[in-house]
This record gives sequence, C-alpha cells and structure tokens, in this order.
Amino acid sequence: MRAMVFEGVGQPLRMVERPIPEPQPGQLLLRVLACGICRTDLHLLDGEVSVPDPPRVLGHQIVGEVQPGGRRVGVPWLGWTDGVCRYCRAGQENLCEHARFTGRDIDGGFAEYTVADERFCFPISDDYHDLQAAPLLCAGLIGYRSMRMCGDAERLGFYGFGAAAHILTQVAIWQEREVLAFTRPGDATTQAFALELGATWAGPSDAAPPEPLDAAIIFAPDGALVPAALRAVRPGGTVVCGGIHMSDIPSFPYDILWGERTVRSVANLTRADAEEFLELAPRVPVHTHVTQYPLEDVNRALADLRAGRFTGAAVVTP
Ligand SMILES: [Zn+2]
Ligand SMILES: [Zn+2]
Repeated sequence: MRAMVFEGVGQPLRMVERPIPEPQPGQLLLRVLACGICRTDLHLLDGEVSVPDPPRVLGHQIVGEVQPGGRRVGVPWLGWTDGVCRYCRAGQENLCEHARFTGRDIDGGFAEYTVADERFCFPISDDYHDLQAAPLLCAGLIGYRSMRMCGDAERLGFYGFGAAAHILTQVAIWQEREVLAFTRPGDATTQAFALELGATWAGPSDAAPPEPLDAAIIFAPDGALVPAALRAVRPGGTVVCGGIHMSDIPSFPYDILWGERTVRSVANLTRADAEEFLELAPRVPVHTHVTQYPLEDVNRALADLRAGRFTGAAVVTP
C-alpha cells in the first residue's frame, strides 16, 4: 500500500510503499476512505510536538471501512489508554499517563490502510459522506470539548476561524448562542465565511468586540491571543485554549485577569466526548466545508493550511 510517512522534523512527508498492516487482537483493519488534516500535523512536522518513534504515518481524523465487513468507522486522535492510571479511573482518559495518539504514537490515516484499536473506533452516521465526516473527528470533537468548557456562555468569541470554529459556529447557533469570529487581520475571506455561517460579527483578532464576550476559545497557535481574548471577555468569563501548542504567552497586566476571569487549556478528548459529539452532529446538522486533496498531495494540503489558503477543513483521500 501507499503511505505518506513522517521521517523527521522539517522534512516533508514522503510517499513509501509498505505492506498492508496486520491487525493485532482487538484491532480493526481499515481501508482508509478519507483522513482530515489538522494543525497538530503542522506542530508534529515542525517539532513543536514530538513524534517519539519515526518513521510514522500521520493523520488522526480517519474515516475507514472495516476489512472485511464494510462498516464505516471514525478514528480520532486518542488511540489507546492504559485504563488503570489515576486519570483513566477518574473519567479523565484524555489525560492518561500512558495515552497513545493516532498519527503520532500509532500509525495514522495518511495511507491506503491502517489498523486501529476497536475500542477507539466510532460509528459514522449515514448522513455524512466520507469527506464531510473526517473533520468531525478532531476539529469537531476537540472543538466541542473546548466549547463545553465555556459552560452556558451565550456570547462566544472564536479566535482563529478554521476547521474547528466553522463546525462549532453551527453547533453554537443551534444551541442559541451568539458567535463572534476573530481572524488574522486583513483576512476578509475568512471573515465573510464566518458571517455566512451565522456569526453576528467578524473582525481582526486585535479588535475589541462590540459587546464583551462571555467566553472565548482560541484555536490559533498564537500566545498573544491570550491577553487579547482576556481583554475581550467580561468579568467571570472564560478563555479556553483549544490547541496542543501555542507560541509563548506575553506577560500581561493582572487587571485583565482580575474579576474572576479564567484561562484554561483543553487537552485531547475522551471516548465519551466522541460518542456525544458524533451523535449530536447529524442532529444540528453540522455541514462541513471541505477541500479535497489526493493522498500524494498531503504536503501541499499542509502548506495550504499553514498559509490559510482554504476556508473550513481539508481532507486527504487515497
Ligand atoms: Zn487534530
Ligand atoms: Zn490512563
């Protein structure tokens, strides 16, 4: 089979020919139908998040067809947990001390076939085509977990309006919340896209919102957005950092945190998050806007993500 393999930091993924992987007991063999790309893949390529044991097939938003059988499942970032550490026992398997992540510790979906632990595979609703389902599996799931950390906030600000925010906007509006979109200064295309999806305001990330926010989620990996978002939320409001990596957060005056504002991160996902969100998405219904790339063009897809050359999400198909 063909696979796009990570061999080292700073190198493009390389197309290699490999044998089809053999599923171990408890694993499913999947023919990959689609695999979403994610900003985390850029952090892996750049060495901001390490890949412990290269070469590795990246890709952690996999829609696959079980071989044999043909049933369709989705595979997310969380690929394995020990089930016995203090976090697993407390219902916080997203923080598992020995967690293994798809497309980082375990070969992922930028390939024609992959194997996955059956306990971390989720059914995909028939309402979704393969391409449209893929971005639900990380952008959707971890975005949804981030939004849950905002509690019942009514006026939400999204900093960085990519794959996650375009999904979350639809969920937030369905939950009768208001969405304000903060993009890179000058990115009129993304601002227009956010308004089209129902955001009530869209503007540059350094602008103040017309009214203070109840909560903000930062999806962009820019630490300078933390004080910017703190300035935009009301007393008692929350700022959630949804990404796995961020540049350093500049120092800021205490008075923008004062007033019982909270800053927190969201790490990974639990299987309960996956079950809850994948059940909810078709009821909203969430429509994902997808740009498709063939497997051999995954490096181009990643470069386009870095440069902000598409709106919504990007998906690779073998
Ligand atoms: Zn991801
Ligand atoms: Zn554990």
